[in-house]
Amino acid sequence: MPQKLRIGLDIDDTLLNSVDTVTGMNNELYGTTLTRDDWFNVTPEAFVHWQLKDGPAISDRVHELIMHKDYMSRVAAIKDAKEVLERLVVEGHELFAVTSRPDYIRGQTVQELELCFPRVFKDETLFMINAFSADPAVARATKYDVAHQLELTHFIDDLLLHANAVSDGGIKTILFSDNYLWNQGAEHEGVVRLGSWKDIGAYLDGEANR
Ligand SMILES: [Mg+2]
Repeated sequence: MPQKLRIGLDIDDTLLNSVDTVTGMNNELYGTTLTRDDWFNVTPEAFVHWQLKDGPAISDRVHELIMHKDYMSRVAAIKDAKEVLERLVVEGHELFAVTSRPDYIRGQTVQELELCFPRVFKDETLFMINAFSADPAVARATKYDVAHQLELTHFIDDLLLHANAVSDGGIKTILFSDNYLWNQGAEHEGVVRLGSWKDIGAYLDGEANR
């Protein structure tokens, strides 16, 4: 009898192609030639590529593009993610979206998920931890806190910070990396690095049937 899994999923660059959408829009609107390697990159070289002065200026630009009227028509599910999630739902596993995005873009986040993963998530299965807030009173929890409270069996993220912390807390964690420069090396023992949603689907099948 397969085990029912409770799986937490990061959104940006785990479920949605946020890096490609944002850098692609920036290149069209501002004449840059950004690649994925300029994402989460706060070196002077990256500032030159963005044609912006520092990290906060890049954050402002990313925010501007995410709120742009054309963003919703361009953002898409990462290859094979929709098919894998739909199958997991049919098989009776429970899915939760756990994102660092701030509360004030909750409405847009719900729309993006519904557009790319129709009927997979509900309002009550979306958790936003406000990680980018400068106000410490606003940041409410870490991804590990949410994963622990939800009694997740598995967690998937593209950032080492979250993957390592959740894994250290004893929850089986997958680091998703489609050759992402920002998460090379340094994953803790126990974190499973996988490079495609086909591989993630196969791994989770194995976990459910252990
Ligand atoms: Mg992410």
